[in-house]
Amino acid sequence: MHDATLSGVASRFYQSTRKIITVRSKFFFFFVIGAVIGLAASPAVGQEIDSSSARFLILGDWGGFASENQKAVSVAMAREAQKSKIQFVVTAGDNYHGDGIASATDTRWKTEFEDIYSDPSLQVPWYPTFGNHDYRGSAEAELEYSKYSKRWKFYARYYAQEAKIDDSTKLLIVHLDTPPFINEYRQRDEQYHVAGQDVARQIRWLDSLLSASDDRWVIVVGHHPIYSAAPKHGNTPELISDVLPILARHHVSAYICGHDHVMQHLFHDRMNFFVCGGGAEHREVNERDDVVFGKGSLGFLSIAAYRDSLTFRMIDEKNTLLHRSTIKK
Ligand SMILES: [Zn+2]
Repeated sequence: MHDATLSGVASRFYQSTRKIITVRSKFFFFFVIGAVIGLAASPAVGQEIDSSSARFLILGDWGGFASENQKAVSVAMAREAQKSKIQFVVTAGDNYHGDGIASATDTRWKTEFEDIYSDPSLQVPWYPTFGNHDYRGSAEAELEYSKYSKRWKFYARYYAQEAKIDDSTKLLIVHLDTPPFINEYRQRDEQYHVAGQDVARQIRWLDSLLSASDDRWVIVVGHHPIYSAAPKHGNTPELISDVLPILARHHVSAYICGHDHVMQHLFHDRMNFFVCGGGAEHREVNERDDVVFGKGSLGFLSIAAYRDSLTFRMIDEKNTLLHRSTIKK
């Protein structure tokens, strides 16, 4: 197991200025408060909520057509969910591979979601994110499915949720809608259907959301990597130019993505980046100076947020702990 405690450069960086801002947008309150109510109302059956931490799993690229790999990862997730008493699941997109999902009543909801992640420990709120394959089908159908499912909480293409760590400490998780940022998809709109999405508006929303945040920790999730060292996709120039400066200015704790089907931790521009695309298949990784850990492996992330630390554990389909990293304040 690979272990990295980032208490040096990272710690000094995170201790730098945090502004207290009291102005919040209506939009911010709508989604954040909605999410908190969802969390409070839906603890997993038989699980106690740890009052001094927020614990959750992140799964990316899990659209797997009910493959043996997808099932193996779901079994490992359930084991980890039971052990760590997780409170919710976050997805990093490509919830359905191929040409996405056809409708909110498509039978694939049962065969590729409900029947796969069926363990009682995974009957907690799921907070999804869109990937490129989701846009190849009906993205609206993924939002609409929130009406039919007790755990699928996907009410907007980009949104934020807030999780309580203790009575005075909160974690903010921001879900970005990254496919519309990608030039290639905009040029192939007949396949990706992204042209109607207003990227400039999303950027303004992100900036104002982070400006108003008084959360102890902020994690931003988007399907496409900002940085990734893998031969299939790698870095995303559009996000490096349009999104990274905002995340850096607001000192976010970590950016987590999928898209490359690898498990990887990178440290770049004084920020932590996790690629968590091992939900259903795996590909090769590259070596690079900014890679803290990387493996072409199935897997998911298990995250525990405490008042003074954030712990990221990369776990594979056999519940092997591949890598652990702790960020401290
Ligand atoms: Zn993708």
